[in-house]
Amino acid sequence: MNQQIKFLLQESEIPHTWYNIVADLPHPPAPVLHPATLQPVTPADLAPIFPDAVIAQEVATEREIPIPEPVREIYKQWRPSPLFRARRLEAALDTPAHIYYKYEGVSPAGSHKPNSAIAQAYYNKVAGVKLLVTETGAGQWGSSLAMACNFFGLACQVYMVRVSYNQKPYRRALMETFGAKVTASPSCETEVGRALLAKNPESAGSLGMAISEAVEVAAQNPDAKYALGSVLNHVLLHQTVIGQEAALQMRLAGEEPDVVIACTGGGSNFAGIAFPFVGQMLRGERKKLRVLAVEPEACPSLTRGHYAYDYGDTAHLTPITKMHTLGSTFVPPGFHAGGLRYHGMAPLVSQVVEEGLAEATTVPQLESFAAGIQFARAEGIVPAPESNHAVAALLREAKRCKEEGVGRTLLVNISGHGHFDMQAYLDYMAGKLTNYAYPEEEIAMALAGLPNV
Ligand SMILES: *Cc1c(COP(=O)(O)O)cnc(C)c1O
Repeated sequence: MNQQIKFLLQESEIPHTWYNIVADLPHPPAPVLHPATLQPVTPADLAPIFPDAVIAQEVATEREIPIPEPVREIYKQWRPSPLFRARRLEAALDTPAHIYYKYEGVSPAGSHKPNSAIAQAYYNKVAGVKLLVTETGAGQWGSSLAMACNFFGLACQVYMVRVSYNQKPYRRALMETFGAKVTASPSCETEVGRALLAKNPESAGSLGMAISEAVEVAAQNPDAKYALGSVLNHVLLHQTVIGQEAALQMRLAGEEPDVVIACTGGGSNFAGIAFPFVGQMLRGERKKLRVLAVEPEACPSLTRGHYAYDYGDTAHLTPITKMHTLGSTFVPPGFHAGGLRYHGMAPLVSQVVEEGLAEATTVPQLESFAAGIQFARAEGIVPAPESNHAVAALLREAKRCKEEGVGRTLLVNISGHGHFDMQAYLDYMAGKLTNYAYPEEEIAMALAGLPNV
């Protein structure tokens, strides 16, 4: 029996292209609309906030998009990321399942987010931009972009959701170490922020609010652009290095996944691991597989949201897209997976779910932490609270394999490590965490505000 644990690739095997699923989807994506006119957005509408190369990727239809060599050079610092066979977890679960995990926590910022941050900083640098403005929830995206901006000599300003700013001082310290300026959102620095604080001075903030602040600042400064860490087509595109590598590594392991699992906040790490496999399936190059998107019970956009046109941010400054949404004014409860507290979903992930190419499921907070701890005790890696949702779904699948006596091959993406989230683990172990009920009334209210398209 092959007892190999790690499946590693050479630096030369880092993909040379990103994979664009639009080329293989049965239907073209729904058009993106301007928030004021409700007409399809033009590249000129997006020019104040994104560089041309990024806009071109947002609407690209070709299957393969070259990764610039300076981006691949930086990827080499932590890519190809390892694929592990979770043999001790399999033994602990006494499951016939074969469990594999792709580990994105090896990046310097500790998650998959630098895969896109490096690319976005590069394209902005080439376009002559001086400052990148962004939002961050848990701080993973902010620290990734701060690192990337520093590599390329760009200034970086981050609006950090207030509840995370308070919960996670070391994430802020990391961003500042890389030279970024960090502000708790909502803030007094922007018109949007001041209006939100006037309505609710105690606001915990949300990704939707922080996005509005960052877009406002970027749009008003000709030397600045905006960067988003998930949701948009170009971000999902950049993350496909994960799944392309994983496909090669599964081949090294001599197995094919039956189920691919990832957590979904805005959808980027899910798309990153899943889309290359879905593409191979759509092109008839691999057998049918199940693809599982896992979201928190307290912010269940894919499973409980409407599939409708909605705004990407609270102040309605961003284009409107067709996606699964809980309503742009919905403020999710302050549970400990900040990266999953977004009201919407990547339009491409929504489309893949709508077209029956992937399933979605939810996990309550306590189950996610119990799963993360079980994973840590077996494998020695403490997953990020976001990744714990994927781990929880993985454990459910592994248990099902045991009950049914079927040895399926399960592949999960561990999107990041939890080393900056140990307070959440402490709180969980002290019995201080609870399950947040599905906030039905608030979601109904927020959904009532969907734009009339
Ligand atoms: C940001 C983040 C997520 C959620 O974002 P997606 O775009 O859905 O991937 C998940 N896991 C980690 C570790 C993150 O930092």
